Amino acid sequence: MRIVLMGAPGSGKGTQSQRLVEAHGVPQISTGDLLREAVAGAANAATATELGLRAKTAMEAGKLVDDAIVLGMIRERLSQPDAAKGFILDGFPRNLRQAEALETLLATLGRPLQAVILLNLNLGILFKRLTGRRICQDCGRVFNVYTSPAGTPPHCPKCGDHPRLLQRPDDREEVIGKRLEVFEAQTKPLIEYYQKAGLLHTVDADADVETVFQRLESVIAALEAG
Ligand code: AMP
Repeated sequence: MRIVLMGAPGSGKGTQSQRLVEAHGVPQISTGDLLREAVAGAANAATATELGLRAKTAMEAGKLVDDAIVLGMIRERLSQPDAAKGFILDGFPRNLRQAEALETLLATLGRPLQAVILLNLNLGILFKRLTGRRICQDCGRVFNVYTSPAGTPPHCPKCGDHPRLLQRPDDREEVIGKRLEVFEAQTKPLIEYYQKAGLLHTVDADADVETVFQRLESVIAALEAG
């Protein structure tokens, strides 16, 4: 299975990718996660790397990180042995230049994309999902204070009353607007790009995690049958 899971921030790409990893045994490749790891690594190093600092500045402002940095990471990640059996790309590509570079890279590897699945959701819901997202530092669980019974003050549904809850710095209200704007301006043109390539499938993502997962599974089953 070689797919791209595409969607605005907050559309559920990360959550659904994890479900697909469990169901299909192929790795999730998230450029957001790779970048967060690089930024954390740079922060821990004695001297912060320039790459880490540049990525951090762009991410905290809700902007895209330089294509050269992201493409270097993707090239390296896709050449690792576990990606030979397939992959779920999450959060990449995010603009036309990245999409073209991906096409060239996969053609070189002889492993072209099979599908691009768009998780479709309206802006109002996206905003709420992003402002409500919390990560429990104790168990790593990602949940939403609006949809999980998180209580007041919010606490992790698994760890109880005294977990350390984290809000991603780029999930603050002032950054979310910028991220959604970047999606509209830079990532949305990819919908037409992949439609023309005959690769695009759209899934309505305005439903609970399980329902959206079943919708994705139907698309994947049809791909595998065809
Ligand atoms: P995500 O976790 O996918 O929401 O990504 C978080 C942030 O990482 C984004 O707002 C961007 O700043 C950066 N980022 C993630 N993927 C990419 C990409 N493919 N190209 C450029 N920047 C990215």
